[in-house]
Amino acid sequence: MIQSGKFDSLNMNIKKISNLSKFELKSLNLRNYYKDNILAFGDLLHQVHPLAGQGFNMTLRDISYLSTLIDERINLGLAIDNTICRDFEKNLRDKNLIFSTGIDLIYEFFNFESKTNNEIISKSLSILGKNKFFNSFFKKFADSGLRP
Ligand SMILES: Cc1cc2nc3c(=O)[nH]c(=O)nc-3n(C[C@H](O)[C@H](O)[C@H](O)COP(=O)(O)OP(=O)(O)OC[C@H]3O[C@@H](n4cnc5c(N)ncnc54)[C@H](O)[C@@H]3O)c2cc1C
Repeated sequence: MIQSGKFDSLNMNIKKISNLSKFELKSLNLRNYYKDNILAFGDLLHQVHPLAGQGFNMTLRDISYLSTLIDERINLGLAIDNTICRDFEKNLRDKNLIFSTGIDLIYEFFNFESKTNNEIISKSLSILGKNKFFNSFFKKFADSGLRP
């Protein structure tokens, strides 16, 4: 294990790398996003399989929406209170659930494929990916989720 190293270009030293830890990969969707004025965030709201590389993307979209809600309140001269948590949950929970379920479904497809030792799904997706319409659909889905 690396104890000390140097990034020459940045002139930075690695002082210490803590012990490796591991955790089970699992899907999770929080039913209640907030309690009073405390809003849960990040993987605590929605944990998805890393296969699709979408976990933090979802959080970035949440941040963007939360920021919009706060701006709206400020522009209208309204209080920054727990109605933000309520609106955040109301407008995002179902979308996040559908999106993360979609990711899980993709994972299960590939899982099934590797268990059955065939490549039908990968080959079909590769053919679909060459189609302009599906290609742009999948890109939009990955970049924007279910939000406009
Ligand atoms: C292998 C892998 C690959 C990934 N690849 C991608 C990708 O390509 N693209 C993408 O968008 N997303 C990816 N993700 C998902 C992304 O890493 C997560 O969505 C993101 O890190 C979640 O950030 P977070 O701050 O919510 O949680 P975390 O990054 O898990 O941070 C939570 C922190 O809180 C600490 N903590 C927990 N409990 C306590 C406690 N009781 N007291 C004090 N501290 C505590 C933890 O130690 C941790 O440091 C990947 C995930 C994995 C596992």
